[in-house]
Amino acid sequence: MSHANFSLAQLEQKQDFIRRHIGPSEAEMADMLDVVGASSLDELMQQTVPEGIRLAESINIGDAQTEYDALTELKAVAAKNTINRSFIGMGYSDTLTPNVILRNVLENPGWYTAYTPYQPEIAQGRLQALLNFQQLSIDLTGLELASASLLDEATAAAEAMALSKRVSKNKKSELYFIADNVHPQTIDVVRTRAEMFGFEVLVGKAEDAVNHDVFGALFQCPGTTGELTDLTDLIAAVKESKAVVSVAADIMSLVLIKSPGEMGADVVFGSAQRFGVPMGYGGPHAAFFATRDAYKRSLPGRIIGVSKDTRGRPALRMALQTREQHIRREKANSNICTAQVLLANMASFYAVYHGPEGLKTIASRIHRMTDIMADGLKQLGYELENTTWFDTLTVNVGDKKDTILERAYAKGINLRSDLDNAVGISFDETASRADLTTLFAIFGGDSHAVDIDALDSQIVSIGSESIPEALVRTTPILTHEVFNSYHSETEMLRYIKSLEDKDLALNHSMISLGSCTMKLNATAEMIPVTWPEFGRMHPFAPMNQTQGYQEMINELNQWMLNMTGYDEMSMQPNSGAQGEYAGLLAIQRYHASRGESHRNVCLIPSSAHGTNPASAQMVSLKVVVVDCDKHGNVDMDDLRRKAEEVSENLSCIMITYPSTHGVYEETITEICDVVHAHGGQVYMDGANMNAQVGITSPGHIGSDVSHFNLHKTFCIPHGGGGPGMGPIGVKSHLAPFLPNHSVINIDNTERGNGAVSAAPFGSASILPISYMYIKMMGSEGLKKATEVAMLNANYVAKRLEGHFDVLYRGRNGRVAHECIIDLRPLKESSGVSEMDVAKRLNDYGFHAPTMSFPVAGTLMIEPTESEAKAEMDRFIEAMICIREEIAKVDSGEWDATDNPLHNAPHTLDDICDAEWTRSYDRQLAAYPVDAVKRNKFWPSVNRIDDVYGDRNLICSCPSIETYREE
Ligand SMILES: *Cc1c(COP(=O)(O)O)cnc(C)c1O
Repeated sequence: MSHANFSLAQLEQKQDFIRRHIGPSEAEMADMLDVVGASSLDELMQQTVPEGIRLAESINIGDAQTEYDALTELKAVAAKNTINRSFIGMGYSDTLTPNVILRNVLENPGWYTAYTPYQPEIAQGRLQALLNFQQLSIDLTGLELASASLLDEATAAAEAMALSKRVSKNKKSELYFIADNVHPQTIDVVRTRAEMFGFEVLVGKAEDAVNHDVFGALFQCPGTTGELTDLTDLIAAVKESKAVVSVAADIMSLVLIKSPGEMGADVVFGSAQRFGVPMGYGGPHAAFFATRDAYKRSLPGRIIGVSKDTRGRPALRMALQTREQHIRREKANSNICTAQVLLANMASFYAVYHGPEGLKTIASRIHRMTDIMADGLKQLGYELENTTWFDTLTVNVGDKKDTILERAYAKGINLRSDLDNAVGISFDETASRADLTTLFAIFGGDSHAVDIDALDSQIVSIGSESIPEALVRTTPILTHEVFNSYHSETEMLRYIKSLEDKDLALNHSMISLGSCTMKLNATAEMIPVTWPEFGRMHPFAPMNQTQGYQEMINELNQWMLNMTGYDEMSMQPNSGAQGEYAGLLAIQRYHASRGESHRNVCLIPSSAHGTNPASAQMVSLKVVVVDCDKHGNVDMDDLRRKAEEVSENLSCIMITYPSTHGVYEETITEICDVVHAHGGQVYMDGANMNAQVGITSPGHIGSDVSHFNLHKTFCIPHGGGGPGMGPIGVKSHLAPFLPNHSVINIDNTERGNGAVSAAPFGSASILPISYMYIKMMGSEGLKKATEVAMLNANYVAKRLEGHFDVLYRGRNGRVAHECIIDLRPLKESSGVSEMDVAKRLNDYGFHAPTMSFPVAGTLMIEPTESEAKAEMDRFIEAMICIREEIAKVDSGEWDATDNPLHNAPHTLDDICDAEWTRSYDRQLAAYPVDAVKRNKFWPSVNRIDDVYGDRNLICSCPSIETYREE
């Protein structure tokens, strides 16, 4: 048909986004259907998804929109946000993201589409940036060891409490102390966490901590209302009684003031947001977390460590607890999986770019503005509640509070408003002289001009005492070369690029990580994230200024409810694991509301993701593992028996659907029924929602609550290991138990419910990504994405048949949206391990599929709907070639160790070695198939020695000397 014969509607349809998101063309899909043996996508669905759970009606999201239209509409929604100048503080400060970082990191798919660095040989760039983050954390906090990043400051505080309990020698105490000058949202989140651990929390004057028998205490400096305190004596006194002391700190203040580490703190944490990461209405931002070396095995989250590769060169990888949840399950230190890698990287680049001198200038300017403001306010007759400060003043305004706030709003300025008879003013690096003038006008009225320059010269000549002598920082910061080398934009640009080039991301090749759903993160989805209308919003801005955000969130909520079959959503959890925690919390609160708080057993199938048991532990549930049968399905007899055994104490089951074995279990409804019959609740892990949207739904199947990894199914990029969002959906009976927030009240939620994240709507600024995706796909596109995800997985499984064994299959021999291939028999006979295969895939230009989860010795492949047939064919070709290579080792044709599998990945250094002594040639090592020649990705290091690194744990930047060739 010629284009002239198409109707306008048809022509428009041909331009839609759906075909950009979905990899294979219609013709390719037809070919692939042929290969898998189905006549249509619909038939494939009928063969694959159990009849009883299929939706009778289509979801109701509306029509697909073009990229252009969707962006235009969202822009109009964003315009309903009022972006005032923010002086609210409370842990969130406006910041100037250096443009070189904005464009080349935050807006760069080379950084944002990468995965968590579990394959370190092709991830040295982001591992280096994270190591820089750790060095920065160590320098600023004055402690010995830092982790790579946590989700936000408030959850970091909760982790500090949990760590304190693990390591405190005061074993008897169940009491945790929090100083009353800690940010309110931090207290809120810690209280929530403590409640379910069965700890008691006491909030009081900091000095009061010594009067109680506690296992740990939390202080904050600067305090939430701005004052600085030398905590040295207090910390020593509290530690006398074997309590562990944590201090929340402001990252910028640490540049100028004595570190809590030097004051004796055991743990120091805080938000790294103001190091160049937009406020974004609450996130995403990284939290830093540092502690003593002695506590390294109790540290929550990831640690990047230095080890060496097979050539003996320094190489980085995740240390110690790599995948600790998968190994230690309910004994894991925390449930943190996806964290905030992209944002930690941004913060570390901010420090690299500014260097110690630049940071001192920024911090000093902020401090000077605060000093000037303080003097001016005194001149105007105001009384300040704090006598020391870094950037925050609390001004006693008595009954004039409302007038002052109103005047401020009228001039486009937000002040902190939640204090009695006082307002707070916090300065940040974006504040200007014009802001000072406006602020003076607000407090003094327009007639009382304050001479800023006069105040400034006075401070310069007599000095400032707002940072007491004893608290002035005397120890150097950021002395490492990396923070003193890249201060021109040219140098910085090249440094960022040099790291980016070491990493394999989605902009190079398919990353078929089972369970992680590495699909397209479309540019149109990403664009709104860096619109200032979304980026510059403070999470505690008055609701009437956040109308655009509310509208976007509400619409997204409605869509999510429609797709998931639930009745209510909470957007607060900022990762999948946080969603699990929030969901289990709702379940426990629900049981308690019915006088059944004794229900404390959580059934978890053996195939579950490691965060499931780790989250169960966080609400003090006892985990009972349910076996799987030889087909990988939940063993129904075992389930019935165990449910029966614990019946009256059964809290819930946590089950993933389709299962992590990549199969739609036929008995899922029955599983829900069994659990319900014993009074338990069903928590359906929504990580595999990419195999449900439009076809079935958790609510329809009979589940009570689920989290949804928006960074999997709904297109938020993985950012090299975060950000993510893990909102939860619940049936109506659980709705009263969703998290609220002590600073911003969330509609339709019980006031008393504690928070699970620092910000009321989690990492709100990345919600536009999922919003755009859904809007551009519409009901039809979303369903099609699910169907094609299944077609792609079945195509890969089919094409690998005869080469590898697919471990589990469902009805009609079908897999769902992912499949597990079993390498154990091959390893048994040839000695070639799943690790060898994973590393050899790097030589072919691919990231390995998920390795040894959920079954050791296997690879789990999830191509997603976004991969085109050509790319899958390339991957399949690589896998088949590797299989042939294994056969050569197996038959003895190749030596057991002198072979390309054992030595993979191969680096340029290998190939360029003056003497090549291996039994295979260089061509085979680096260019095993022709396709590789056209687009070679070079791993930057050889295989890394994990054990060596863990034995010799180094988590800070090694000196440059280490990198010199001997
Ligand atoms: C990814 C995943 C999780 C955890 O989600 P995070 O966002 O990484 O915390 C939980 N369950 C399953 C099955 C997953 O794949």
